[in-house]
Amino acid sequence: MQTKEKSLFMLAHEEGSNLAIVFNDHVHDSKQNTYCQSHIIWNKSDIEISKKFSPKKNNAVLLSQSYLRIGLDSKSFRVSECGSFLEFAHEITDQGEVSEVGKLHSANFCRDRMCPMCSWRRSYKIFGQVSQIMELIGDKYKYLFLTLTVPNCSGDQLSLVLDSMMDGWRKFIRYKDFKVVKGFFRALEITRNNDPCSKSFGTYHPHFHVVLAVPLNYGSGRNYISRDKWLNMWQKAMKDPSISQVDIRVAKDKNASKEASLELASAVAEIAKYAVKDSDYIYPEDPDLTDNIVVTLSGALHHRRLVAYGGILRDAFENLKLDDPEDGDLVHINQKLNPALAWLIVKYGWSCGTYKMTDVYIKSPGEEVNDIE
Ligand SMILES: [Zn+2]
Repeated sequence: MQTKEKSLFMLAHEEGSNLAIVFNDHVHDSKQNTYCQSHIIWNKSDIEISKKFSPKKNNAVLLSQSYLRIGLDSKSFRVSECGSFLEFAHEITDQGEVSEVGKLHSANFCRDRMCPMCSWRRSYKIFGQVSQIMELIGDKYKYLFLTLTVPNCSGDQLSLVLDSMMDGWRKFIRYKDFKVVKGFFRALEITRNNDPCSKSFGTYHPHFHVVLAVPLNYGSGRNYISRDKWLNMWQKAMKDPSISQVDIRVAKDKNASKEASLELASAVAEIAKYAVKDSDYIYPEDPDLTDNIVVTLSGALHHRRLVAYGGILRDAFENLKLDDPEDGDLVHINQKLNPALAWLIVKYGWSCGTYKMTDVYIKSPGEEVNDIE
């Protein structure tokens, strides 16, 4: 009988942007001969790193430089360290096959509200959470997308406007008509008008993206709320009759399927993606403008909850024991590594504007691995 003993990884090298890991199998055949077979796996995580992690890390570096220029030294340090190492785990099967796509299992993320890397991780996390919540709730409800806006404001007014929006939201969900809503997910987004030809150039546009869970018979009975009614409720909550922009649409019909749930989760993750998009405040060619916007946004977002679950979505969130999408674990989006399996761990470090592989090792089944969240 032939047996195999793995001595994984003898060397790793780069070819173009791809990284290969070469490792050996020591094969013992029935005649007690031992010989060596070499295998190469192309590490596909490397592509994910260069296409996704590196651009976010580069923007995080620019944000950190801006924080330093405006005197927020400790924030600057934290963001500069964000994602300075990443470890990917590739599953090794009993047959010794190594999966080409690794899972991120350890990294040091800073969780700064504006960090481009962490915002991107957060959107993955919210996608994972909403997928699980939708699966638990199933097809008992129908979902609506609601966008609540207020008139654009200047950077100086932004913080006060956000305060009044948060107050307005609390009133809004207490209105009698809102009782038809059985649960919600709410995300704050702030965009900035960057069009020099526009008369509102340089102003900020804060708005809420909301997903509402309503009964399946919503729309057929008396519990239907028209767009004008939503607008009216929001104007009243905000004490601002000049508000004219409210958008409401059906997100998902009652014929729910797993695909529809995933589609909804991904639509939710999309709206919850970034409180602020890095392209709205990182101007590599214009540090003064970057600093100006970073001061405004970091001040306005300080200690603010950017996303919130309510009603049955909050109940499902608690039943599933999900952690805080804003301050929780940004590494393990779905699950941690199964300790009963063997894993090939590939570690990368950020150096001179790029990620480089710094270590490869094998984690045998049952062996402890220290995850860093
Ligand atoms: Zn970060």
